[in-house]
Amino acid sequence: MPLRALFDYLPPEGISIDELGPGIRLRVPFGRGERIAILVEVVQQSEVAPELLKPVSQVLDNTPLLESGYIEFLRWVAGYYHHPSGEVILSALPVYLRKGEALVNKTEKAWQLTEAGAGLEADELKRAPRQQQIMQFMQYHRDPLGRQELSEKFGNYQAAIKALVDKGFLQQTEKNLEQPPQPAADSAPILTPEQQRAVDAVLQQSGFQVSLLYGVTGSGKTEVYIAIANEILARGQQVMVLVPEIALTPQLVSRIQARVSEPLVTLHSGLSERERAYAWQQAISGRARLVIGTRSAVFTPLLQTGLIIVDEEHDQSYKQQEGFRYSARDMAVALGKQKNCPVILGSATPSFESLQNAYRHNYQLLKMSERAGNARLPAIDLIDIRSVRLDGGFSPVTRRLIAEELQKGNQVMVFLNRRGYAPVLTCHDCGWVSECPRCDARMTLHAAKNRLWCHHCGHQQPVPPKCPQCGHQNLITLGQGTEQIETVLARYFPDTSCVRIDHDSTRKKGSMHEKLEAIKQGKHQLLVGTQMLAKGHDFPNVTLVVVMDVDVGLYGTDFRSSERMSQLLMQVAGRAGRADKSGRVVIQTRHPDHPLLHLLIQQGYEAFSRQALHEREQALFPPFGFQVLIRAEASQADLPESFLEAAHQLADERAQQAIAFWGPVPAAMQRKKGVHRFHLLLQTASRPGLHDFLHRWLPEIERLPQAKKVRWSIDVDPQDFYS
Ligand code: ADP
Ligand code: ZN
Ligand code: ZN
Repeated sequence: MPLRALFDYLPPEGISIDELGPGIRLRVPFGRGERIAILVEVVQQSEVAPELLKPVSQVLDNTPLLESGYIEFLRWVAGYYHHPSGEVILSALPVYLRKGEALVNKTEKAWQLTEAGAGLEADELKRAPRQQQIMQFMQYHRDPLGRQELSEKFGNYQAAIKALVDKGFLQQTEKNLEQPPQPAADSAPILTPEQQRAVDAVLQQSGFQVSLLYGVTGSGKTEVYIAIANEILARGQQVMVLVPEIALTPQLVSRIQARVSEPLVTLHSGLSERERAYAWQQAISGRARLVIGTRSAVFTPLLQTGLIIVDEEHDQSYKQQEGFRYSARDMAVALGKQKNCPVILGSATPSFESLQNAYRHNYQLLKMSERAGNARLPAIDLIDIRSVRLDGGFSPVTRRLIAEELQKGNQVMVFLNRRGYAPVLTCHDCGWVSECPRCDARMTLHAAKNRLWCHHCGHQQPVPPKCPQCGHQNLITLGQGTEQIETVLARYFPDTSCVRIDHDSTRKKGSMHEKLEAIKQGKHQLLVGTQMLAKGHDFPNVTLVVVMDVDVGLYGTDFRSSERMSQLLMQVAGRAGRADKSGRVVIQTRHPDHPLLHLLIQQGYEAFSRQALHEREQALFPPFGFQVLIRAEASQADLPESFLEAAHQLADERAQQAIAFWGPVPAAMQRKKGVHRFHLLLQTASRPGLHDFLHRWLPEIERLPQAKKVRWSIDVDPQDFYS
């Protein structure tokens, strides 16, 4: 566990305490070295004895990077998540500035390929490995590289760069860190009555209010965001837009760029540290008026926050799953409250938590149930695969439906949330299975790479030529992944072009975008993918969506499994029939009579959510109860359990009565990366009571002798019980 406390220092030599204010960065002595710190508060007295206080070594900023009201907000956040406030406050700064670097300028010195460099063959430099490495990287990425990126990626790069410049393969250039302005080219469509009502409902009220924009896929939520954002911008305020993953939703970003004429920046993982710092500076200074970013962008301290939009608010990527485990969606709501501004949570499949807030009238519910333009919602049918022979995972009916649709010149999307060729390789003779040596999990076969690969810890090894256990050459695969589906479809439809979109096929920078464009232009008729394909994309010519396997989601172990299954299914289904053509969704299942599946298909997502919420209410599951998960792990199997046992013992009588303690229990995957993992779950009906208890309890846990022997963490409002 990181340190919980804030630390006291004396002002630096020669500077009076009155010259210092919160929000500036400092270099301070810490342990045997130095650290970059942020000044949180200036006080005249310290509880530490004066002779133990050390002076600050250096003041790094003249003007605060964070204003004191914002620091207060971050301290509240730290309290809410019971996470060290120092770490939370620093997380609001871009990594580059956290290292103590000066604020960045608009341009930096950089190097780019010359024509000779672009055409260079890889082995021409094989006697100079670092030069070869740099050239390969540059040929792959093409963008100019600045000094900081070079040293991050290649360490001591100077000599290699000089040699490459001398040889004429690289040339020096200036890299502009400013994101190129995009002319707002598109004109606004005339809003549908539903869209107009939603826009008015948000703009009519002033101050803090949360609106849940619950609009079916294709109902035009993006247009609603844009219309409201433009009005808020016109009032002179800034807008924050959060999206799950920018690389997966390039369309949303470009649509906003095309329709907002004020300066905007995007904050995403594809930026270098300096680019990110520059974009951040633009945002906090108010020069950028609209900020689009992923999860961590919620902690960008805008100068004048006037509106916060969270697109696809149900998406799990809003929850950080390690370290400071915050939910960006929940913090967006907290921030809106602090800034007294409207918050819009948008989704075609809102989280059941947000829906419950809307049903209880804590949030304003804005429903859009019609698709914009001529598009109709697709029909959904189940295909019973209990007694049919599947070929490569496809039932004969499914195969026929795909053929019919292709014949008509339409696009077909096949969805399977499992990448690789097959989830298991096994021996037909002795029953050996491809288990990961480090996890309680099986390694997936990746046929193109001829490797077994654990998706949980990243362990990889070559595919054994024969069974490692009995030596026979009778290894077979069980089940399918997207890679196999692609080959099966190529066998069925050899004359049809097929594209696969999953984590493996889109690693290269820009390849996701290229593939999406190719699909839009009709270069591929068959689309195969994981949930990456299900998110937010607009494919007007897809008229049939095939869901290969829904059954895993029906029998998940955690109380959110059915919510996730229904969201994924509705999102996938939403890809069909987005334009003038009507769409159809078919779902292969071995449980065609499953009541949840029927409720979802016949009565829809909302009816499904009400039923599921009713069940959660009985069990006091969130949002009716509040949960905190304590995770512990160690390489020695018994330590995490005994630590959590001891932690549980520390809870006093009063807490034992008010809070339900579940566990310690082994994590769903007990062993991961060679480490044993256990959980202790706390649940109660009263959030304040839970927080009070945690404040008393956590310091005691920290003092347990076992606490030093395990890695443990606290997760407030946990989302994922597997990780
Ligand atoms: P959602 O985000 O709700 O799935 P989108 O905002 O992507 O929906 O809109 C779906 C499609 O409908 C897009 O192609 C969009 O350009 C179009 N559209 C949205 N609003 C309108 C409108 N008022 N008039 C015409 N077309 C619209
Ligand atoms: Zn064998
Ligand atoms: Zn593994």
